[in-house]
Amino acid sequence: MINKVLEQSGAMLCVDCGKCVAVCPMAEMYEDFSMDISPRGIIQKALSQNFTSGDIFGDILEDAGLWRCTGCDAGTRICPEGVSCRDLVKGLQTLSKEKQPDQNILLCTRCGLGVTSLPIANYIQKQVNRKKLDYLSLCPACRQQVYMERNTME
Ligand code: SF4
Ligand code: SF4
Repeated sequence: MINKVLEQSGAMLCVDCGKCVAVCPMAEMYEDFSMDISPRGIIQKALSQNFTSGDIFGDILEDAGLWRCTGCDAGTRICPEGVSCRDLVKGLQTLSKEKQPDQNILLCTRCGLGVTSLPIANYIQKQVNRKKLDYLSLCPACRQQVYMERNTME
């Protein structure tokens, strides 16, 4: 399973240069950012799990660091080997969701659909006006609906 994601994202071509780490926005978003959750770290862990039978880093599909990625694609654009860190993380997240449904996802408090990952939701909540926090726990469709309900003239 992981093998296919590694192939499709090109992660097997990674030369460990670190350029993706330098442009990854997670470094500014998370105070505890480290190589462990960086794109390079995720690639290393996924490759290790795929090519060794040992459990060196733990199961990548249960790694909470997977859910911090914004999907921005900055690392992909700068990678000299054409590795897509975005496609790798998205592919691993899909496999992870099959193992641990909804565990790392903020669910809409109105309809129950996934809104975003919990680490990203926490980051956004820290950045915005507290008065707007209730909108952040809604999916885009419910957000619009609630806004309309609150602002429709009687
Ligand atoms: S920029 Fe590309 S080759 Fe360099 S560490 Fe990141 S994924 Fe690997
Ligand atoms: S797609 Fe994810 S891992 Fe890659 S640079 Fe953006 S936030 Fe970092």
